[in-house]
Amino acid sequence: MGAPGSGKDTQVLKLQEFLNLILISSGDITRHLTEKNKEAERIMDEGGLLPDKFILEAISEKISEVSEDHGFVLDGFPRTLEQAEELERMLKEAKSNIDHVVFLDVPKEKLVIRLSKRNVCPKCDYTSMTNEEKCPTCGGTLEKREDDKPEIVKKRIEVYMENTLPVVGYYKNKGLLLSVNGDKSVDEVAEEIKQKIS
Ligand SMILES: [Zn+2]
Repeated sequence: MGAPGSGKDTQVLKLQEFLNLILISSGDITRHLTEKNKEAERIMDEGGLLPDKFILEAISEKISEVSEDHGFVLDGFPRTLEQAEELERMLKEAKSNIDHVVFLDVPKEKLVIRLSKRNVCPKCDYTSMTNEEKCPTCGGTLEKREDDKPEIVKKRIEVYMENTLPVVGYYKNKGLLLSVNGDKSVDEVAEEIKQKIS
């Protein structure tokens, strides 16, 4: 778990590789659903939010597909208390459980600064956190994401905090939370996660 700009997307890939986990990402699921499911497509086209049941069903299906000798990592889910409770029910049914909940802790002011520096390549999705102008992968011109514009950034972080901090508290009460200082370099954060999980 981590707010927009916390480095979650980078760290989840490192963790997946380190522990050889199946990645179950709610972002991928949403994209996939919108392509395959007519009702989901219609809702998204009309600018609506995908109801929880679509994502929950897809996640439940993915979890049931993970074989016993494999673990999995959930990315971008659960985002609300309701989702966390539903996840617990699903896992019980699948005779599975959560070992750890990693939370990347970054002060709000730092998140705003980080997101205002972020640029992406429109051609290959490369993400840059520095002032470079050209994509080192494909040579494309880096651009600011629409939702990384300053006035939107603050709102995104507020929405995240409001919905997701209760989820962090929920897992803390269950003794599952590993809070990691996310205000360090990518490698230092990855190392702290490894140490806390081992
Ligand atoms: Zn590129």
